[in-house]
Amino acid sequence: PQRGRPLLTVEGLRKQFGGLVAVDDIGFDIRAGEIVGLIGPNGAGKSTSFNLITGVLSPTAGAVTLAGEAISGRPARAIARRGVARTFQHVKLVHGMSVIDNVAIGAHLRGRAGPLRGILGLDADEEARLYAEARRQIARVGLAAHEGAVATDLALGQQRLVEIARALCLDPVLLLLDEPAAGLRHAEKEALAGLLGTLRAEGMAVLLVEHDMDFVMGLTDRLVVMNFGSELAKGRPAEVQANPAVIEAYLGA
Ligand code: ADP
Ligand code: MG
Repeated sequence: PQRGRPLLTVEGLRKQFGGLVAVDDIGFDIRAGEIVGLIGPNGAGKSTSFNLITGVLSPTAGAVTLAGEAISGRPARAIARRGVARTFQHVKLVHGMSVIDNVAIGAHLRGRAGPLRGILGLDADEEARLYAEARRQIARVGLAAHEGAVATDLALGQQRLVEIARALCLDPVLLLLDEPAAGLRHAEKEALAGLLGTLRAEGMAVLLVEHDMDFVMGLTDRLVVMNFGSELAKGRPAEVQANPAVIEAYLGA
């Protein structure tokens, strides 16, 4: 996608759970080669927004458009196949399975085929290609030394990196990361920031939910701030950081 036109457009997005409006008329866009931060206090509706964009949930109202095509309400697998990959705030890795198997098999099941075909019908060439790609992405997130380890034995921060490697195996145009820096040590955060900067330079679009404000402010091109489901502020990090409503609701807390 060219730089000028948004890759992802979110308009009037709304999600109601019974009487609770978890996401209330949210709108923003992301261009290729841009990192947008989605921030706000706990319960603001950030993860629900991710679930609406990735098809885990259907919106009550509103539209999500990817490269000019309406994707809202489509199944998660169809959206993943169009190049939208994500990680989860609550890590979803298979217990007892190695890092490399989690990345290779997880990427395969999510992106390309139904579960049965994935387990039964993977031919040797495709398997070799999948594992080579998994190994490459595991190295990229800094876990080469751990590829044979049981994924769920790793520190939680490293498990988040395993999920990022799995997402990258889908060769996404848009990557959504839900609190990727949580539980990482300082050096690991710096390495992750470096990786995200590289992905941006390669033209990937990234939507980032993150509570570590140094990480967010240093890395994002624009921010969307949510509070109680609504949009509180939008703009460049320096503008948002100076916004009194944001300071009161969030940054000053
Ligand atoms: P955040 O990620 O910003 O912390 P969430 O999107 O997880 O916030 O949650 C937003 C609000 O929606 C919260 O009040 C949460 O309790 C509620 N919520 C989230 N998912 C569900 C659900 N499946 N059913 C009912 N309420 C939900
Ligand atoms: Mg959340």
